[in-house]
Amino acid sequence: MMLYKEPAPIKDRENPFESMMSRFNIAAEVLGLDEETYNVLKSPARQVIVNVPVTMDDGKVRVFEGYRVVHSTILGPSKGGIRYAPDVFLDEVKALAAWMTWKCAVVDIPYGGAKGGIICDPYSMSAGEIERLTRAYTSSLVDIFGPDRDIPAPDMGTGPREMAWLMDEYSKTKGSTEHGVVTGKPLVLGGSLGRVEATGRGVMVSAMAAMEKLGMDPAKSTAAVQGFGNVGSWAAKLMAERGVKILGVSDVSGAYWNDNGIDIEEAIEYKNGNNGRLEGYKGAEQIDPAELLTSKVDVLVPAAVEDVITIHNVDKIQARLIVEGANGPTSYKADNIINEKGIMVVPDILANSGGVTVSYFEWVQNRMGFKWTLDRVNERAERIMNESFERVYAASQKYNVPMRIAAYIVAIDKVAMTYKYRGGF
Ligand code: GLU
Repeated sequence: MMLYKEPAPIKDRENPFESMMSRFNIAAEVLGLDEETYNVLKSPARQVIVNVPVTMDDGKVRVFEGYRVVHSTILGPSKGGIRYAPDVFLDEVKALAAWMTWKCAVVDIPYGGAKGGIICDPYSMSAGEIERLTRAYTSSLVDIFGPDRDIPAPDMGTGPREMAWLMDEYSKTKGSTEHGVVTGKPLVLGGSLGRVEATGRGVMVSAMAAMEKLGMDPAKSTAAVQGFGNVGSWAAKLMAERGVKILGVSDVSGAYWNDNGIDIEEAIEYKNGNNGRLEGYKGAEQIDPAELLTSKVDVLVPAAVEDVITIHNVDKIQARLIVEGANGPTSYKADNIINEKGIMVVPDILANSGGVTVSYFEWVQNRMGFKWTLDRVNERAERIMNESFERVYAASQKYNVPMRIAAYIVAIDKVAMTYKYRGGF
């Protein structure tokens, strides 16, 4: 096998917002969505661009560009993470915001969709710089955020630490402690048990549900997981616990393969003691990251970034089942070939919705001022994931469409119906 050469998997130049809209258009047509509702849902309700000055450790002021896009508030306050990345751009945030609307609708929680982003490289910034950036961004968006208006959460490049700063900054402006303004907080600040692993757990639950439909025995199945961050590592660990042999995993440092299955617990332990990276991991051989996606496994879990399954590699995919831990890992143009090949896809807006589901539980607990046990969180999240899977599966049978389009149909139908009841202007 070839040795690792490139830092990132093959990337297509497809525009993520257009990719999202192409699926939306197909589902809208199948549903026979009326023009008025179509026009309401096709563009974000609000897009805010902020430029926030931050004093860096060397005393110089740098101005960072940030975004918050509220796609829809039809189902309730908008919900969605904040991404810190050097290459985040507005059309990506718009797509991610719309995906949040569909995601919340698929799992039937009372939220609209939003997403935020800041162009920055958090890995090259000090904790102090990230804190000042997070506070400045929060303070410039204080009129957008709110426990009943728009509720951020972690996404790529952010975690409980950033959410704590956001909550604190927002609370200071309001003069009262506002736990419910953000989810994914540290436990001591009103975070929920089970939130950290929630997305990965939901990916595992979706994978199990899909395997059952396909008549696959988890204990006789193999998988490859792209991305070994929070989502990928938890999904791999929990799938391995159900008997699935994880043959390959990858992160930004490269891809790792073991024909006998990777010891996921050991790999996680290694990564935790190695600055969050698998670099130098000895429990597997290093392979070309591009090969991981096309390797001979039964289940493929892309859990990293957008557009990694594209027309450039989709022909070579050998998995029978793809479970999308990431948002938008499959480009629109690859959809048809996947369908022709008869591969089942549990789409992002269903497969990774465990995260926002437990975010919702966190917000509910904040409003109740009462903490749930881990069992309660996991049991309720699992029930929601399974019910949502069945809803989407039933729609795919009813309309004779792939699971991705079925998920959009379920989501758009719910949002459109709610819009009808609420009425326009
Ligand atoms: N950023 C996560 C997602 O894409 C979580 C969003 C949330 O919990 O609000 O689903």
